[in-house]
Amino acid sequence: MLHLKFNKDKSKQELNAIEKKFKQYSKEKITPEFNVLSLNRTDIYAHVLRIFVQANVHSTLKVSVSQLLDFLIDVAEKYTEAPYHTFYHAADIVTMLYYLCHDLNANKYLTHLDITFLMVAALCHDMGHPGYNNAFQKSNKTDLAVRYGDESILESYSVDLTVELIKKHKLDKKHKEMNDILTDLILSTDMAYHPKLQQESHQLFNTWSQLTATTHTFPSEDRLSLSRILLHTADISNTARPWSISKQWSDLIVKEIYNQGDEEKKLKLTLSAGMDRDVCSQKSITLKFAEMIKPFFESLVSLLPKSHVLVDSLASNRIQWECLELTKKRKMRRASSDIIIQPITFKRIRLGFRSQSYPTVLYHHQSTSKKMLPASFPVQKSHHLLPLEFKSSFIYGTSANSSLESIVLYHPYDQ
Ligand SMILES: [Zn+2]
Repeated sequence: MLHLKFNKDKSKQELNAIEKKFKQYSKEKITPEFNVLSLNRTDIYAHVLRIFVQANVHSTLKVSVSQLLDFLIDVAEKYTEAPYHTFYHAADIVTMLYYLCHDLNANKYLTHLDITFLMVAALCHDMGHPGYNNAFQKSNKTDLAVRYGDESILESYSVDLTVELIKKHKLDKKHKEMNDILTDLILSTDMAYHPKLQQESHQLFNTWSQLTATTHTFPSEDRLSLSRILLHTADISNTARPWSISKQWSDLIVKEIYNQGDEEKKLKLTLSAGMDRDVCSQKSITLKFAEMIKPFFESLVSLLPKSHVLVDSLASNRIQWECLELTKKRKMRRASSDIIIQPITFKRIRLGFRSQSYPTVLYHHQSTSKKMLPASFPVQKSHHLLPLEFKSSFIYGTSANSSLESIVLYHPYDQ
């Protein structure tokens, strides 16, 4: 029975619903296919709670499951309604982190306490993110920039909110080093540290490859380094997730990016690179990011060989983006031709379009009657396809003894 000390506004029914879902989720495996975006608030609390319990966060911190839920509700409420940087993003990072630790075997290098700090850092790492990045805070001289200076403005803000909640919930009573480690981990989620973390990944591999297979005690600095790498991996893993999930996250981040670009235009600030909706497509933004993080994921494979699945997903999602764009272009070109095709049972079929270009029309025709066809149109007998080029519209007369199976208009660019 869940009982909250701080979030008293949660009704008994709500808590029962969370508990019921928590029990249900606890029986299911946590995989990268798990899509937090499909969850409602009750379900997402239950989902994060079960991950924390399965990772032994409550027992490591010596708190009850209810205390843990109380904490995570407070965390959720500090997240904003930005398109991307919401509590759902935090829950997704927690999910991926659990997967990295348990399925991709990162946990063999870490202690229960390391994993606990990692989970809490993942949950809290973007608290208060307003949906406009550090560069925007700086160039717009926002209150946050005034408060935190030039570097890691948003991450510093998240650290302060985290420390405040850790204190409120007394989570660090047994682990006085908790705040320092959380601070280190959350600050390291600033993308500015991406090259440094890639370097750390290489260094760790070089150090650990010299250790014997039986050596299982890794220095605390190395474990902290791996924790930073894992948290960053989870944080930038959207492009390496199963396609449907990856696409949904891309929609959200691109929405946030365009919002910032719009705001920068409005405020007459220097437009951040890659944020102008009139210049940068969703595909180019997403694939550019995927290309940038690819070497990082590749370096992770040295440390965690099973993480090659992430590199594979990056590659297959790239193909999906190419296919999506191709389909979109075809649709747009066809739509721009404003083709009107009447049902083929009609005796007279009118095809019309307003495009300036000249599409080729292929009639898939079963009739052999040549009376209906202008003599100049060669009949491809093997396929019964009759090519025709025309400029504005064409009226095709059918006769009772012919049957027209289909009409396809090929735009010149599609051929
Ligand atoms: Zn994040």
